[in-house]
Parts: sequence; structure tokens; C-alpha cells
Amino acid sequence: KFITLEGGEGAGKTTQAKRLADALNAIGIETVLTREPGGTFGAESIRKLVLDGTKDRWSGMTELLLMYAARLDHVEKLIKPALARGAWVISDRFADSSVAYQGYARGIGAERVKGVHDAVMGGFEPDLTILFDVDPVIAMKRVETRGEEISRFDAESMEFHNTLRAAFLDIADKNQDRIFVLDGGAKKDAVQTRLFFGVTQKFPD
Ligand code: C5P
Ligand code: MG
Repeated sequence: KFITLEGGEGAGKTTQAKRLADALNAIGIETVLTREPGGTFGAESIRKLVLDGTKDRWSGMTELLLMYAARLDHVEKLIKPALARGAWVISDRFADSSVAYQGYARGIGAERVKGVHDAVMGGFEPDLTILFDVDPVIAMKRVETRGEEISRFDAESMEFHNTLRAAFLDIADKNQDRIFVLDGGAKKDAVQTRLFFGVTQKFPD
């Protein structure tokens, strides 16, 4: 199974992805934890190119194409081989982030992002996506205390993050059979329990 975790900055994806992977491994399901942008040597190099700059170093479309170059490397070299040997894969972000960030927030448009997705990936989609929905004001407080990790909170306005939140909710609304929305503002242990319950309910065996 291919499971992706989505949401804005400071939504709790990274913490919960690790907990979910540990819980699945503990019940005997081989689970690979990965992230985007990144996940492979090549894709991590592209991540640095995209994130180590000023906010307008890349146009929205260039940013999108860099994300898809990274994503293709990640899918070909890590995700598909893992799925092929029967492992589960949990990715901290995947294609819905491109729709939200580059499609909505940077103005490329969801349809054009879908066009690139289909051209590059064919019909490859996650089996399940969890959206961590949280108020950007709460999320920003979390990001401020988590250290030197690069975040768009360093560069973008609050309006950008509110647009992003609405974008993710809209994407979830349009993909209700794939995307499950969780309250990312709840306590860590409560989110962890709900996440594990949601995943095991979707894949009972
Ligand atoms: O999830 P993580 O915090 O590792 O993401 C790193 C940065 O990449 C974030 O600041 C996020 O805003 C940015 N990003 C982006 N477009 C994407 C995916 C991530 O701008 N499609
Ligand atoms: Mg994170």
C-alpha cells in the first residue's frame, strides 16, 4: 500500500509519519518511510535546489517541474520497487503538495499540475492520503520551536498559508474516496491513534 501524508507547514506530518511507520513495522508489515521533495539521492539534491533559495528564485512552473523531476526519481527508484516487493510506503508529502503549493498558492492552476502529473506519472496515485488540517496560526507556533529546518514560514505571508489550507481542503473534497481529513490541531497522541485507526480501517487485512 502507498500512503501519503499531506498538509501545510507544522501540521505534524513528519512526527506522525514516523509513528505510523513504527506501528506498522511493529505489527509485522514491512514499511518504508520516505519524504518529498526528496527520498532518493537525486531527489534530495533537487530539494536543496528548490528550498535553499529566496522565495522567488524559481517561477511557479519551474518549481513545479523541479518537483516532478524529484518525484519521478523517487517513484522509479524507491517507491515502486518497495511496493513491488510487497512493502508499504509512507511518504511525508506527495503530489497533492504540488497541487496545493504550485497549483493553488503559486497560481499555476490545479488543472495544469494535473496535466504534468499525468504526463510524467501516468495514473500513479496513492492508495490512501491523510490530510493534516490545522490553523496556520497554531502551525506557525510549532514551526518556530522546531529548529533550523527550512520552512516557507520564513518567506511567505500568512495569506499564503491560509490559501494553502483552503487548497488542501478543496483537494480533499474533490477526492473523498482517497483523502481522509484529520484534525492536525489535536494532541500528538490523539492524532496518532486516529491515524492508525484510519489506516487499519481502510486496509483491514
Ligand atoms: O514538508 P517539509 O517541511 O519537509 O517541506 C519543506 C518545504 O518545502 C516546506 O517549506 C514547503 O513549503 C515546501 N514545499 C513546496 N512545494 C511542494 C512541497 C513542499 O514549496 N510541492
Ligand atoms: Mg515536516
